[in-house]
Amino acid sequence: MKPAPFDYARPASIAEACRLIDEAGGGATLIAGGQTLMPLLNLRLAQPFVVVDLGAIAELRGVTRGDSFTRIGAMTTQAEVLADPLVQANLPALARALAHVGHHQTRNRGTLGGSIAFAESAAECPATALALGARMVLQSVRGQRVVEADGFFLGPYQTVLEQDEMLLAVEFPDWPDGHIPLFREVARRPGDFALTGLVGALAVEGGVIVRAGIAWLAMGPTPVRARAVEAALAGAAIATLDPARLADLALSECAPFDDKAASAAYRLTVGRRLFAQVLREALGARLAA
Ligand code: FAD
Repeated sequence: MKPAPFDYARPASIAEACRLIDEAGGGATLIAGGQTLMPLLNLRLAQPFVVVDLGAIAELRGVTRGDSFTRIGAMTTQAEVLADPLVQANLPALARALAHVGHHQTRNRGTLGGSIAFAESAAECPATALALGARMVLQSVRGQRVVEADGFFLGPYQTVLEQDEMLLAVEFPDWPDGHIPLFREVARRPGDFALTGLVGALAVEGGVIVRAGIAWLAMGPTPVRARAVEAALAGAAIATLDPARLADLALSECAPFDDKAASAAYRLTVGRRLFAQVLREALGARLAA
């Protein structure tokens, strides 16, 4: 298959990209790494009038430190994010999740911004942004705004991004030093999208969990924030925790569906096991049960 005809533009700046998107009046699609969009174009599932290539905008790339947060430019490839020392030091959960995104080849082209903007519920990056309390920096000709991950994902492949907006960067607020990253997923083969999975972080002080952030992959139309179990974990003494009982709470906001990859029942059964495994792996012998 070949794409339907479209105009192509490769702006050199964010301002130029925003102007092009605005002028297209809803007929523009942004391309980042093309790892998702190219198949959609070739299958004519996306037929934009103009494709705006963000590849020449240097200010959209890179990992930098802000005041108590780590900022990742939307066009930073997944491989660059995974290898970045700031991510390894400050965002170990993101590093663990990224290692499961596709393959080396796709990570060398695919970007963090593209994954977040596409908002696949089984994708690792959106769930990680949700679990870690990230915020999205959006820009259009109308100006800039910042949206918390909690309010960014609206439905299957739907976000709050307006048709004239682009994602500039994702900002991950700091977690306490020494926090424990959580990640586990089940996929048919390495590099496939997850059938179910969870990602997050636990901050522990003196045998007590002081902060928890947990989100599910592939357990609903969007990534799912496990707020009920976060609330149960925060302030709890580790020695009092029962991972099996907490697993039911962890799944209480999930609404998985049947599809050709797995049934909802499978996702819930495996998710329950994954949660208990992840908690035991994270908290080890300090757990009573
Ligand atoms: P593109 O394909 O260029 O764009 C994706 C969408 O995001 C488009 O709608 C585009 O308009 C929009 N977009 C891109 N950048 C912006 C921006 N800055 N602002 C607003 N909108 C934007 N992903 C996973 O998460 N887990 C996997 O296991 C996985 N396995 C894969 C296996 C294969 C074989 C392949 C080909 C892909 C796989 N992917 C997986 C998808 C891959 O990670 C893509 O890189 C990612 O989904 C999109 O990133 P991209 O930069 O390629 O975006």
